[in-house]
Amino acid sequence: MSWYADEGLVGIRRDLHRHAEAGWKEFRTTALVAEELERLGYDVALGPDAVVPEKRLGLPSDDVLAAAEDRAREAGAPEAYLERMDGITGAVATRSFGDGPVVGVRVDMDALERDESRADDHRPAAEGFASVNPGEMHACGHDAHTAIGIGIAREFADADGTDEGFDGTLKLFFQPSEEGGRGGLPMSETDHLDDVDLLVALHVGLDEETGTVVTAYEHPLSNAKLDVEFSGAPAHAGGAPNEGRNALQAASTAITNLYGIPRHGDGVTRVNVGMVESSNAQNVISERATLRVEVRGGTADLNEYMLSHARRIVDGAASMHDVDVGTSLYGKTTTFEADDEAATLVAEAAAGLDAVTEVRPRKEFGGSEDASYLIRRVQESGGIATYVGIGASNVAGHHTAEFDIDEESMRIGVDTVVEALRSF
Ligand SMILES: [Zn+2]
Ligand SMILES: [Zn+2]
Repeated sequence: MSWYADEGLVGIRRDLHRHAEAGWKEFRTTALVAEELERLGYDVALGPDAVVPEKRLGLPSDDVLAAAEDRAREAGAPEAYLERMDGITGAVATRSFGDGPVVGVRVDMDALERDESRADDHRPAAEGFASVNPGEMHACGHDAHTAIGIGIAREFADADGTDEGFDGTLKLFFQPSEEGGRGGLPMSETDHLDDVDLLVALHVGLDEETGTVVTAYEHPLSNAKLDVEFSGAPAHAGGAPNEGRNALQAASTAITNLYGIPRHGDGVTRVNVGMVESSNAQNVISERATLRVEVRGGTADLNEYMLSHARRIVDGAASMHDVDVGTSLYGKTTTFEADDEAATLVAEAAAGLDAVTEVRPRKEFGGSEDASYLIRRVQESGGIATYVGIGASNVAGHHTAEFDIDEESMRIGVDTVVEALRSF
């Protein structure tokens, strides 16, 4: 028997919300999803069969991962699944109903690294399902996405193991670590996507009302996040400043020059330094400084242009101040264009649902999204894809402490996607 067997979508979503797990820590989420999907008759790939381990970006330390796994165990994650995951989150569930097309759905599972509101008017707090994990909160709706993924699996897998009206193969991609763009790339590099003829990714909320379905978000900005560490030598700032090699000065030089990367004639670019840290007393020449840098581009090439200039500038700043520099890629996303045929399937599916009041066509994404890697992989292998928006009357903006969704949206998400896949 599976932990979620008797739970509806709302119950599952609230359980996931309560046990929010940030990127690469989704041990409990993955284990419970895998258990339920196997109960429903799906083959579930876990661990290195679900993501390519060495391609994982922005991975927390081994200690942090081990603590997250222990926490999951204590909160009911079934041990047999934790063992199969081998320290790696994410799952791909597959079930074949015949020789027809291979259709896929991608949902993400991770929470944000932030605290959740405890205010009385924040429903998860008022009704007892706010996150029990300090500093981790489902503030983007990925708890609902995971529940929708399970809901779709249930719609296809009825009790006798046949599915009326669908003779193909269904693959469900439960992706870890979307926030920061860390899990899409390593999942896209498995071979699970190679034979997918139609892939649908989805997001709830996005400031649309419940009942609105957007058939194709597209053109997200390509994005790269770079962690930078300057290492110099400490010295007494009064007695022997000449003996120091100043990492803070290198970081400051880098920051001002990063914002000076020339704009590009081919399209939009972005750069931002979100964090600088170098903790010393006033009388110490700083030996260590870290930066968290992000660049974006309207195309993958523009993003690479920004990333290569950012790397050149941090190298130059280090050399100017005679310090060493190391960089590591924290996360990366690419861009995509939705396919007309896929968007039309979704539009027709949504239009046929009573709960849907408005079907909107294509919309620009604005931010960045690492489903882009899965979508690109499918398109490069000859398949089609789209990224669907499911309005959820979110009461506060995404990533805020008060974020919450209208749970009715989950049913609309399940029904829209199931109908679109079946009609393919
Ligand atoms: Zn988000
Ligand atoms: Zn999100």
